[in-house]
Amino acid sequence: MIVCKFGGTSVACAEQIKKVANIVKSNPERRIIVVSAPGKRFGDDIKVTDLLIDLANAALKDGDVEGKLQDVVNRYKDIAENLGLDQSISNIIAQDLRERVEFDKTNINLYVDNLKASGEDNNARLIAAYFNSIGLKAKYVSPLEGLLLNNPPERTYALPETYELLNKLKTYEEIIVFPGFFGYTKEGTLRTFDRGGSDITGSILAAAVKADLYENFTDVDCVFSANPKVVKNPIGIEEITYREMRELSYSGFSVFHDEALMPVFKLGIPVNVKNTNNPTAPGTRILPTRTSNGRPVTGISADSGFSTLYVSKYLMNREIGFGRKLLHIIEEEHISYDHTPSGVDDISVIIRSNQITPEAEERIVKRIKEELHADDVYFRHGFSMIVIVGEGMRNNTGLAARAAHAISRTGSNIEMINQGSSEVSLVFGVLSEVENQVLTALYEEFFAPITV
Ligand code: ASP
Repeated sequence: MIVCKFGGTSVACAEQIKKVANIVKSNPERRIIVVSAPGKRFGDDIKVTDLLIDLANAALKDGDVEGKLQDVVNRYKDIAENLGLDQSISNIIAQDLRERVEFDKTNINLYVDNLKASGEDNNARLIAAYFNSIGLKAKYVSPLEGLLLNNPPERTYALPETYELLNKLKTYEEIIVFPGFFGYTKEGTLRTFDRGGSDITGSILAAAVKADLYENFTDVDCVFSANPKVVKNPIGIEEITYREMRELSYSGFSVFHDEALMPVFKLGIPVNVKNTNNPTAPGTRILPTRTSNGRPVTGISADSGFSTLYVSKYLMNREIGFGRKLLHIIEEEHISYDHTPSGVDDISVIIRSNQITPEAEERIVKRIKEELHADDVYFRHGFSMIVIVGEGMRNNTGLAARAAHAISRTGSNIEMINQGSSEVSLVFGVLSEVENQVLTALYEEFFAPITV
């Protein structure tokens, strides 16, 4: 059995949905289909999810919602019309949106979640209706049937019982069309995952039915070894391990949500990232282990928006509990950290900048000075992390030297180096203004001169 997830661009309009139907028809193993909300049809189009967030914000401010609501309805109306569906589906969607707009506004996040989730929910209903209209026996299944989530305000994740509850999906006769991106708490409250979270739903379903394969359909032929917006014609990746994909999607590889690997990883279910617009292309396979491609590096990612908290104290290495106390202060500000490179008397904590407010920054610095008696404490902002990833790195000497040399050729300073304990990744912190230059230089070093 194959679970397929179709991303926003794959279900953005009637023409794309027809391609989805053909893909589903072409392999009888494709039994469970997870869909996103309609995404962008062209470059500066607006995703339905963004239209819905806008609608929710207008409703929260008691602004004019009618025009925004119609914008969403029109997207579905257009799809339904071009799929030859009865227009009554647009009336049902309009009614559904009106009810969601009237939802309890006490908890703003839950209010927005409820509207946002309608993007996938209504699309799943519409796609199931279309499949049936062309003789493909299909059934819309709601996450209410068992996609159980934890309670807010904790970050959304699926409860363990979800996997058992959703195992029944494998017994359905019809092709299941399941909306991505959301589920319900035990009390019946709707919550969404982070943006791009339909990938997570697909992975949960694949694990629940113990699928043979999880296919993730998007709009590129494969995962590239570096961001094609920065590096011209980067090599496509045919096979990649879960660990490598995790490291790459952590920083900048948005083609597959970084949290989506966990459910399939636990069961060793292979993932195939494929292109809806070119479904016969082999795509990228994400596997527990892979055959060697002869290259030590599989991919290089880059992401901006990092800050560092620098702390130094003479004889820090002798002080028992210093690191714990420092991280505790950060924990109490509800901030997570990504790396902690350290020396004998100093430590840097690398944090995603969007978690820090000027007030939190001030509080943290004050507490570290007063409670830990540090000699020097300060924040710096505007960093990018460039991550070189490859299972082959472990058995390859001189790789860090090659990387450092390539960076030095750009004249850029390395602000931080961190080698992951698994030796699958090597992280360089640089100033964001040199990110693209450094990424290009590293790509040239490890993959071949760039062809224009
Ligand atoms: N529609 C949601 C988003 O745009 C979720 C998804 O497509 O995966 O983020």
